[in-house]
Amino acid sequence: MSGTDLVILGATGSVGRSALEVLDAQSAPQPLHALTAHRDVAALAELCRRYRPRVAVVADATAIDALRDALSGTGIAVTGGTDALAEVAADARVASVLSAIVGAAGLLPTLSAVRAGKRVLVANKEPLVMAGELFLAEALASGAEIVPVDSEHNAIYQCLPAGYVCGRTPEGVEKLVLTASGGPFRTWSTEAMRTATPEQAVAHPNWQMGAKISVDSASMMNKGLEVIEAHWLFAMPHEAIEVVVHPQSVVHSLVAYRDGSLLAQLGAPDMKIPLAHALGHPERMPSGARMLDLVAAGDLTFEPADETRFPCLGLARAAIAQGATAPTVLNAANEVAVEAFLAGRLAFGQISEVIASVLDRAAGGTLPAATELDAVLRMDDWARDNARAAVSGSKGTTCQA
Ligand code: NDP
Ligand code: MG
Repeated sequence: MSGTDLVILGATGSVGRSALEVLDAQSAPQPLHALTAHRDVAALAELCRRYRPRVAVVADATAIDALRDALSGTGIAVTGGTDALAEVAADARVASVLSAIVGAAGLLPTLSAVRAGKRVLVANKEPLVMAGELFLAEALASGAEIVPVDSEHNAIYQCLPAGYVCGRTPEGVEKLVLTASGGPFRTWSTEAMRTATPEQAVAHPNWQMGAKISVDSASMMNKGLEVIEAHWLFAMPHEAIEVVVHPQSVVHSLVAYRDGSLLAQLGAPDMKIPLAHALGHPERMPSGARMLDLVAAGDLTFEPADETRFPCLGLARAAIAQGATAPTVLNAANEVAVEAFLAGRLAFGQISEVIASVLDRAAGGTLPAATELDAVLRMDDWARDNARAAVSGSKGTTCQA
């Protein structure tokens, strides 16, 4: 790998913008090859004018002309379409790719970076959930260095021995402990959650994030997805990945070693910290985030996760236990259900019901393995169709919209 530059896939999102803020905190930031977005031309053009990447990319090809107009006279090249995302991620001038698109749309460009042997900083967890086995096998084959950015996985990575390579089972580790804030509905009853509104669901107590992951945090599907993400990143059985609710979001996760030692990473709840760790690794760089004040943080508390009130956690565990493409199905059904909820077409309490019904239907057939990309994409499509049918089938019954 001879490149030097950075690509930010999903630059206009919450993680993408935080990464650009981390670059602001450097005296000699890594040069930018490309910034990408889905179709928010105005936001992407503004970021490009400020950060001067070589290329600006919109995934939605119908937005190319508008982006070209918005960047005329800047000398920044403009491309678009999903293939263009994969191309910039594999460009020879690129050393690192930050994967910060939301959802399954990040799979192909991230895999492109992995196959090209780039250093891949992974925030976008859905591709790991839908195709983790394939993803890590490709990384080990190409020599791509995977650095987790999701705060819990980054915390675990920081607590593993120096030189640890993602995709290999770490030595001497008994279990991983993922912390969860519990989200905005941590203390709510099932009844109250059933009719919660999108505004209530995205109002996360500790983290500022995009809408989809905020809803996942409220349902605790985010933690379920993170168990699967950890299973693949760290090659640990899901039974050895514990979830503990820690409402203060100060301890970002822990590694429990065989000798009884628990190593944890602590910090302010700010994505700039794991982003700076991943961008600088193995060096440490300033992040621009505030240093945690332990005395001001006060009590740190831990409680068990409640799979009765948060059934999505159990569904994610059942999917990884079932194996094959069950996690692919889980992820796709969840994406469809969350989109329907945000659009006011599904009640919050029905998100888990839609996912459970699609997983049930999938369990009735023979699920293909998740080791071939074609099978993953086919099951992703199948699950989306079935989830849409489940959403429309339930319309008008208990939907609050
Ligand atoms: P946002 O919704 O804020 O941003 C999503 C980004 O992806 C935007 O740049 C968006 O472009 C782009 N995008 C959306 N759809 C597509 C598509 N179909 N094709 C190409 N690009 C697309 O998300 P977040 O930043 O919150 O999250 C990004 C990922 O990181 C998620 O997988 C999330 O789970 C993970 N993550 C996020 C954390 C956070 O604090 N936000 C923490 C840990 C993990 P446009 O602006 O044009 O729509
Ligand atoms: Mg996380």
